[in-house]
This record gives sequence, C-alpha cells and structure tokens, in this order.
Amino acid sequence: MKKSLLFAVLPLFAVGLFAANDQKPSERELVEAAMPKVEAPKKKHRILCFSKAYGFKHKSIGIGETMLQVMGEKTGLFEVTVSSDLANFEPEAIKKFDAICFNNNTKIQNGFKEGSGLRESLINYVKNGGGIFAIHSATDGGWPEYVDMMGGDFKSHPWNAGGTWDIANEDPTHPIVKEVHEGKGFKLRDELYLYKDFDRSKQRVLLALDMNSEVNAKKKGDREDNDYALAWVKKYGEGRVFVSAFGHNNEVFYDPEILKMWVEGFRYVLGEIEVETMSIPKPDFNLPED
Ligand SMILES: [Zn+2]
Repeated sequence: MKKSLLFAVLPLFAVGLFAANDQKPSERELVEAAMPKVEAPKKKHRILCFSKAYGFKHKSIGIGETMLQVMGEKTGLFEVTVSSDLANFEPEAIKKFDAICFNNNTKIQNGFKEGSGLRESLINYVKNGGGIFAIHSATDGGWPEYVDMMGGDFKSHPWNAGGTWDIANEDPTHPIVKEVHEGKGFKLRDELYLYKDFDRSKQRVLLALDMNSEVNAKKKGDREDNDYALAWVKKYGEGRVFVSAFGHNNEVFYDPEILKMWVEGFRYVLGEIEVETMSIPKPDFNLPED
C-alpha cells in the first residue's frame, strides 16, 4: 500500500473503531455478559414464557423474555416458547412444557376466566409435577388456588423502584442463594413487594427485606408478623414453584448476582436439582430489633 493511501485509510479506520467502542451494548449483550455458567443439564427442557398483562404492564416484560432466551441458549437448560396464547394452557397443550415462566403478568384472573377450564388445567398441571417460575408481578392477582400455589399475593410496594434496599439472605447455605453475593446480605435497586395471603409455614423463604435496615424501616410495611419475604421455593402437590419479587427494573435482568439465583431457581423447578422446600422460622438475625 502506498504511504499516501495508508494515511488516507487510517483515519477512516480509527473513526470506525471509535464508533464501535462508543456504542452502548444492547440489553441482550448485557444479559449475555451477566449470565452465569452452569454444569450441563440432564436434559433440555421445554418452557413456556407467558408475559400477558391484564392489569398494569411492566416495561421490563421485554427484557424478561430476552433474559429467558439467553438463559436457555447459554445454559442449555431449556428451549423457550414465548407466547401470549391462552390455548397453551389447555390440558393437552400444557403437558408439552416442563415449566411455565409467568413473566410480570398482572391480574391473571382476567385471562384465566372462571368457567374456561384454564384455571383447573393450570392447577392440575402443577399438582401433577409441572414447574412454575414467577417473576415480580406474576404474583399480582389471581384466583384463590393460584395465590395458594404462588404462596402470596401482591398487596403494595412501599419499597419503590427508585430506591436501593437492603436484602437479607435468610438461608445462606441453600443451593439457590448460597452463591448470591457469597450468601451475604446485599443492596438492590428494585421495587419490592409486600404480600398478602403469604404464610411462611407453607414455603421455604430464601431472601427477605432486612428488618434491621434503617432505609427499609423508613417505609412502613403493615404486616403484623413483620415478615417481608422476597424469594421462596415451595412444593405444590408434585409440582415445584419458585417466586422472585425482583424484576420491576430492567437492570435486575442483567444483574449477575440475581441471575445466579434465577438459574438455580430454574434448575429446581425443572427437577435438575433437589433442594429443601420445608419451611423454616424467620432467622434470629433478621428479626426486628425492637
Ligand atoms: Zn413492579
């Protein structure tokens, strides 16, 4: 190459490089970079991602779907069908799936109408061994059996999306959360729920609001038992349920620590790992001081 031509081409090259470096990574790239590696699964499962909102529609629904696609690809755990078609919940159709991810749905009772048969179909599917992975407002509403299956119903969110809150790891040796911030408490910027129809004796609580945190205490919850759980696992018949209050803010979906918990949560609902689901009392360290 002639020297003159080289000097003509070099600046173009530099401009190209600069543009590439200056470009912000896409949300998909952020999720890809944050996704933890896991050992090869026993089999490739099939999951359904259902994101239809019948009430408030979260902006993070889209990144929730992206997160599931990336998780399926990078871990080999599952292939995901993203669909809002309620026909997937008909008794014969739902059997194709090893688990259902309820991705930020709201007021799901308005889709699963009484008398449609869909409510019974979903509940029977889980009782017979199906898996449920619930993100954030998947617990906003439902009919009584759905709420019972989930283990709680959204009531309010005193701890709102713009705040950074203290989270306690209540079960630091549990396989689903032992790697999350090395099993220690942590801070998270997200909208956190206060649940009604929540009863600790029916599930294994993993994470909860830190009851000794000043910043958390500034927002009052109204539960008499002071029990503000944020992530749990439970058995429902033969089925397996994992619930995460997290998932309002988009950034949560590419937080590597939250993804560690979510991958293990999926491994549990898909039957790849066995974990303790027996209820434990609120640990001493997370009882309020007064
Ligand atoms: Zn929310």
